[in-house]
Amino acid sequence: MASSRADEHRWSLSDFDVGRPLGKGKFGRVYLARERKSNYVVALKILFKSELVQAKVEKQLRREIEIQSHLRHPNILRLYGYFYDAKRVYLILEYAIKGEIYKQLRKCERFPEPRAAQYICQMTHALIYLHRKHVIHRDIKPENLLLGMKGELKIADFGWSVHAPNARRTTLCGTLDYLPPEMVEGRDHNEKVDLWSLGILCYEFLVGVPPFEDPSSYRATYKRIARVDLQFPDYLSADARDLISRLLIYTPEDRLPLSQVLQHPWIQRHNPDAAAP
Ligand code: AMP
Repeated sequence: MASSRADEHRWSLSDFDVGRPLGKGKFGRVYLARERKSNYVVALKILFKSELVQAKVEKQLRREIEIQSHLRHPNILRLYGYFYDAKRVYLILEYAIKGEIYKQLRKCERFPEPRAAQYICQMTHALIYLHRKHVIHRDIKPENLLLGMKGELKIADFGWSVHAPNARRTTLCGTLDYLPPEMVEGRDHNEKVDLWSLGILCYEFLVGVPPFEDPSSYRATYKRIARVDLQFPDYLSADARDLISRLLIYTPEDRLPLSQVLQHPWIQRHNPDAAAP
């Protein structure tokens, strides 16, 4: 399954024994499955073409497949291959045995600082890898992160990722919470958007909610993002505040670069080998 032949092989549903459902997303469902020849366990994501067409996301899915299938990193979910029939598209994905980070976060409300720092360190390594390949993720949030066997973080959703440089305007869907000022304001953006989202993720891991959330309205959230209206609860350590404040900066070029995130005292304290390659 993991061999280089996987890229050339034409898969079909008859290659798999499909097991229990793992979850349901916006488009289609995900099942546990086993490749018959190798006994290799995977997650099989089944998407309905009709729904993809209706939501006008075929192009987005093609891009997602093109990008994700070429990535190889321990903190990025592998996409081994895909196939389709008349009605469905099937994605053969690495199985993330410990499930969604989002569920765990909701269960414990917020993560202790060492745990959050370990996730942020892994996320930073994955982003360094992506940016080296000129891939901007643009949709970092707990809902898109899964956990592997050793509890390691896996970026799972590349639906919004692009190869840099990207077009100027993007249609904004869903929540604004993770979008940087340059995106909510419809300006040009580059890979620095992921630094902002890393700051938001760090805050949400430590506090339980994203920093600019405003239940009153979309517009209120927008204003708080554009003003970088950042407030910390008392229990946050000075080091954690410092890192978040260096990432949530209005001007993209002034945000802390990823290599320096790995050197930051808060990351170093909780990940002694953080800067190792
Ligand atoms: P999605 O359509 O990608 O949002 O997936 C729906 C749900 O299925 C997720 O929220 C997870 O709970 C589960 N899921 C998706 N992909 C995997 C995977 N590779 N390994 C384990 N669970 C998954």
